[in-house]
Amino acid sequence: MYRVLLYYQYVPIDDPETFAAEHKQFCQELELKGRILVAKEGINGTVSGTVEQTEKYMQAMHADPRFQDMVFKIDEAEEHAFAKLKVRPRPELVTLRLEDDVNPLELTGEYAEPKEFLAAMKEENTVILDARNTYEHDLGHFKGAIRPDVETFRELPQWIRNHREELEGKKILTYCTGGIRCEKFSGFLKKEGFEDVMQLHGGIVSYGKDPEVRGENWDGQCFVFDDRLSVPVNQVNPTIVGKDYFTGEPCERYVSCANPECNKKILASEESEHRYLRSCSDECRTHPRNRYIAEHKLSEEEVEKRLDILKQTM
Ligand SMILES: [Zn+2]
Repeated sequence: MYRVLLYYQYVPIDDPETFAAEHKQFCQELELKGRILVAKEGINGTVSGTVEQTEKYMQAMHADPRFQDMVFKIDEAEEHAFAKLKVRPRPELVTLRLEDDVNPLELTGEYAEPKEFLAAMKEENTVILDARNTYEHDLGHFKGAIRPDVETFRELPQWIRNHREELEGKKILTYCTGGIRCEKFSGFLKKEGFEDVMQLHGGIVSYGKDPEVRGENWDGQCFVFDDRLSVPVNQVNPTIVGKDYFTGEPCERYVSCANPECNKKILASEESEHRYLRSCSDECRTHPRNRYIAEHKLSEEEVEKRLDILKQTM
């Protein structure tokens, strides 16, 4: 049995470089895999390992006064959710690149536990704002949530400034995968003058695990940043919102474009994956290092034949 741990803590870390180097060694000794970011403002990680390894990790972290209250969201898994271990020092935990940074320890939105969040979503005069990127939103989101048209988190502040009127005077509910982006984003909203701002505490992942709300009013799946790519959320009234990139049919299966230089996340059924060589465009299909072609050991002739069939039908 394996587990995937998702966690973060905003807390001052004096020397992120040294911390990251030592923490990497510690994780290697435990044989964990995953991705951990360390900044002066705190830590953010997703790691996978056996039950025993992850248990040791959580105990060790909780023994450090800086992380004694850290919440770990735990998913059961069949195997590792990462191929490697990366522990990196970074200037920010989540990249908003504000001219005047927000410290969530000083300014952040009111925390809403899953039950409060569900109740607030049903109130009048509420807007639900997805703090994630469009490709995450397109696989699943809260019913009625606004989808800011942004490719990256750091575009979000400008989007807000351009859409002030839609948000003014409303109760704003923000949410993201594990809660870390909203800590800063909801703080930013308050700084911008929005008064009634609530953030989903623990993010979508905690919302899906809450025994009372059980993911109610979440449409689709939740995109995650590890090899699983998506996890289920809603056990009450589930729906499918994802669409196959090629056919438009309902689909919740993410694959990465086989062109290693593109790597774009696309939704594709198994059938579409094979038909389109798991590539988002013709350019990617014919890329000399196309991973689909390599994995399936397709000969040049075979590739030609498959591309011809596509041309006839497209
Ligand atoms: Zn591509």
